[in-house]
This record gives sequence, C-alpha cells and structure tokens, in this order.
Amino acid sequence: MQCNLEGLSGWIKNSFIDFPGTVSTVLFFSGCNLRCPYCHNCSLIVFPDDMSGLSNKVWDFLEKRKEVIEGVVFSGGEPTLHPNIKEIIKEIRKIGYKVKLDTNGLLPDMIGEFSPDYLALDIKTDPKLYSQYLKAQYNNIETRLKKSLSIVKKMGGNAEVRITVAPRIVTRDIILGLRDLIEGVGLVYLQPADLTRGVLDQSFFKSVDPVTKEEVAEFQELLEPAVGSCVIRE
Ligand code: SF4
Repeated sequence: MQCNLEGLSGWIKNSFIDFPGTVSTVLFFSGCNLRCPYCHNCSLIVFPDDMSGLSNKVWDFLEKRKEVIEGVVFSGGEPTLHPNIKEIIKEIRKIGYKVKLDTNGLLPDMIGEFSPDYLALDIKTDPKLYSQYLKAQYNNIETRLKKSLSIVKKMGGNAEVRITVAPRIVTRDIILGLRDLIEGVGLVYLQPADLTRGVLDQSFFKSVDPVTKEEVAEFQELLEPAVGSCVIRE
C-alpha cells in the first residue's frame, strides 16, 4: 500500500518538455511560501480539500506505465513544503522512476532531502525584495537562495536556474545584482512572464510598462558572461 500523495492538486499524465531528456509525468503540489503577483497557479498556492482519490489514480498509473514514463516531476505550488515528500519520493524511486524538482529554493534543506536527479530553481528577484514584492515570510532570503544555488552548481548539467521576467520584479539593476548571485551556474533560462491571462495580482502591474523583447535580450547579454549559458525561453 503506497503512501497518500498528500498535497497533490494537479497532474499532467504525459510530458515531453518538463524534464529535460526524459518522458515524464508531472505532479502539482499545493501550497506556496510566496505570493508572486504573476503567479498563474493561483489555485495551487493554498492547500485544497482532500485529493486522496487522485492519489490512488497516480500510483496506479505509475505502476502500469513503467515502460513508457521515465521520470516524475514535482511541481506546484512549492513541493518542498510537504512533510511527507521524502516518503513519497522513496516509493516513486522504488518503482524505478527518476525525480525532478521545481522549486523556489527557499527551503534548501528540503532540496537536500529530495536529492533530485534534476533540479529547476526559480530565482525571482533581488533577495531584498522578496518580502515586499512576493510576500515572503523569511528574513534570511539571501542565505537560503545561496544555499540552494550551491546545490545547483554542484549538480552541473542536471540543474538549471529560471528567472521569470516581469515588470518591477526584474529590472536591469536587479539583473546586475542577480548576476553576482548566480555566477557559476551552468544553465540559466530567462522566461518572460505572461501577464495576459489570469494572474494572482494584476494591480501590481498597473501603470507599469511591459518588459520589451529588447530589454530581455539585454538581460541575456548581461548574464551570459557570468554563467555557462543563458537562454531566453518564450
Ligand atoms: S509563481 Fe510564485 S506564488 Fe506561484 S507557485 Fe510559483 S513560487 Fe508560488
């Protein structure tokens, strides 16, 4: 009898894009320790009612699809918030799957517990702005992010940093600051935020100009010398 996938709130059965080089199934876990104004996963950032029915379906699928699916992606929300995640991963690995973690990196010790085969770490903005812009409730953001970034660097080609580019949250000055923070990371993606469809706090972006393609290209040029590769992901 497998453990309950506590916190599971969404599921994509088959994905060819979420786990580099790996056909995967993607599990979305609810709850988040941030409130990014551009968040599209609004329904995932609060803990939902019991989803144990879904949990049983996922275990059944994982047992039956071993020949086709190679990996499981833990996404959210913020999957590291779930206390029984270690047990879940142990069970998933026992069946034979690789594990990828998508995280905002504020709980670096949990990343260690996860020990993912692939890690995607979101760096959102200047660590000093996490409380003001993203409603973070921790006071040592920079220390936490540095710890997570050291894991990314150790993992080499099996890890990436993602920076979502949104007005006010990522500016030229902020990019210059982040350049020092992420120096030495192998792969960095710049992903322009999509503010055209339902986001958590549209008012945050009221009366600010959108970030242009030219600005994103400039951010790429600024970051490139400090990292292995910086790619714009549309
Ligand atoms: S975008 Fe921000 S608020 Fe939304 S799930 Fe990710 S970290 Fe949490």
